[in-house]
Amino acid sequence: MSVESKASQEKQKSIDGTPHFIPYGRQWIDEEDIEAVVEALRSDWLTTGPKVGEFEKEFARFTGAREAVAVSSGTAALHSIMHAIGVSPVDEVIVPPITFVATANAVVFQGGKPVFADVDPETLLIDPEEIKSKITPRTKAIIAVDYAGQPCNYDALRAITDRYGITLIADACHALGAKYKGEKVGVLADLTAFSFHPVKHITTGEGGMVTTNDTKLADKMRRFRNHGIDSDHSQRAELGTWYYEMADLGYNYRITDIQCALGLSQLRKLPGQLIRRQEIAQQYNKAFSGIPGIRPLTLVPEVYHAYHLYVISYCPRGSNTNRGDLFIKLHEKGVGANIHYIPVHLHPFYQKRFGYQKGDYPKAEKAYEQIISLPIYPRMAERDIRRVIDTVTRIAEVYAA
Ligand SMILES: *Cc1c(COP(=O)(O)O)cnc(C)c1O
Repeated sequence: MSVESKASQEKQKSIDGTPHFIPYGRQWIDEEDIEAVVEALRSDWLTTGPKVGEFEKEFARFTGAREAVAVSSGTAALHSIMHAIGVSPVDEVIVPPITFVATANAVVFQGGKPVFADVDPETLLIDPEEIKSKITPRTKAIIAVDYAGQPCNYDALRAITDRYGITLIADACHALGAKYKGEKVGVLADLTAFSFHPVKHITTGEGGMVTTNDTKLADKMRRFRNHGIDSDHSQRAELGTWYYEMADLGYNYRITDIQCALGLSQLRKLPGQLIRRQEIAQQYNKAFSGIPGIRPLTLVPEVYHAYHLYVISYCPRGSNTNRGDLFIKLHEKGVGANIHYIPVHLHPFYQKRFGYQKGDYPKAEKAYEQIISLPIYPRMAERDIRRVIDTVTRIAEVYAA
């Protein structure tokens, strides 16, 4: 038995016989991944060496984008994008309220104002109709979030950005491997951000990537991740020079060679894992259809959903129970459900800094009261999938009775 499967068997056991905890998401690291990291540790380069460029090249190939720029997190990817397109204190950027705070924070890092546009309650994707009423002469860009792994309506978004001459950004931190009308996420927007946090599709511990077809913007982001300096250490070593210039203010958003070695190894396994995520989602869809009070989010036609999250809306009729009770009961039974997300405009920072209030985005706020994300990850055991289905179904049926 491999070390790995022994360890995972240990994890299934528990001291008092209660079933093990099923998290909502989990990484999958195998022996190949570990060997790739060990090899990087034994090499000459721990940071910004050959593995960074290799990972970028393979990632660009996977998404079909001309350029991929690897950085230290998904948040750094979003910040690099905001810098590259020149967001400044006079600018507004339109974002959905149902997303992780980092999407909006990236605008604030540059001094800009995030302007929220409400979501479509069926999909929780930003609603193009809502965007139209939020556009002003200050609007610099739209950040579309491919929530849960389902691509936004890129045709409608592109029509708006073309009409107003603004930039279309995708926060695809949920959507690596997703497709819209046959085209992969990564080439649908002008610039696209990805995250390699352990709950995402592939992991580098922490890490992120930007894809774009614009080489100038890619170069700008490569400088931004390295203090705004025009060359990196390995490039200067190759040329035998010490001289460099700092053109812009940048940060240390570098990703290490160790992380990129892991990313390369993880990327090779992505296609099979996407299929597995689809299979799990289909089992859930089938099991929950007809269960009172439970409605999976609507699947849009002509998309390939990457299922970073499996989100249901829970709204039992004629009962005063709510999603909060379901969350507690699931956790009591060892099912690690989670809530994605508290609408960003409801956070104290956004209320204080920009004056947003409860009631500003009614569709997002109503959805937030009902949504719950159920466990989904490629390595999920069949018996765990059944346990989630049985547990959710039993709770829903008790409340509906
Ligand atoms: C995970 C995530 C981020 C941030 O990525 P990090 O790698 O954790 O910095 C941004 N936006 C969304 C939608 C995410 O899910």
